Amino acid sequence: MADVKDIFACTQCGYCCQGETTVSLNKDDQERMVAELGLSEDEVRQKYWRVTGNVVQMKIVDGHCIFYDNGCTVHSGRPWRCAQWPLHPSMLEDLNNYKTIRESCPGISRDVSYKEFCRILKEIMDAEGTVHC
Ligand code: SF4
Ligand code: SF4
Repeated sequence: MADVKDIFACTQCGYCCQGETTVSLNKDDQERMVAELGLSEDEVRQKYWRVTGNVVQMKIVDGHCIFYDNGCTVHSGRPWRCAQWPLHPSMLEDLNNYKTIRESCPGISRDVSYKEFCRILKEIMDAEGTVHC
C-alpha cells in the first residue's frame, strides 16, 4: 500500500508559508478556521485575515503567513490549498510541474524517479480521493 511518506516528508522549511500573499480561503476554509480558532468570525477576520473585496487571505507578518511559527499553528484549520501542497495533481500531468514544485519544496523525495513518484501519488489519490499532507 502506497504511503505519502514514500514520496514526501515535510522538512518544516517554511518556504511555502512565505511571501507577500497567501492562498485565498473559500467559505469552507473560513468556517473551518473559525471553528479551529474558537473565536467569532469577526475576531478572526480582524486578527488574522486580509480581506480585499471578495478575496480573503491570511495576513502576512514579517514576510510569512501570520500562522507560521516553525510550522503551521492552525494545522487542522488550514485552507484546503495548504493541505494539498505540495502533492498537487498537476504534477501527474506534466513533468515540468513536478520539477517546479520539487525545486521549491525540499520535502519531496529525491530518492524516487518521476515515474515512481507518479505511480505512488496516483495510487494514493485513487484510494483517498485527494491527498492531504
Ligand atoms: S516547502 Fe515543502 S518542506 Fe518546506 S514547509 Fe512547505 S511543504 Fe514542508
Ligand atoms: S495556514 Fe499554515 S500552511 Fe497555510 S500558509 Fe499559513 S502557516 Fe502555511
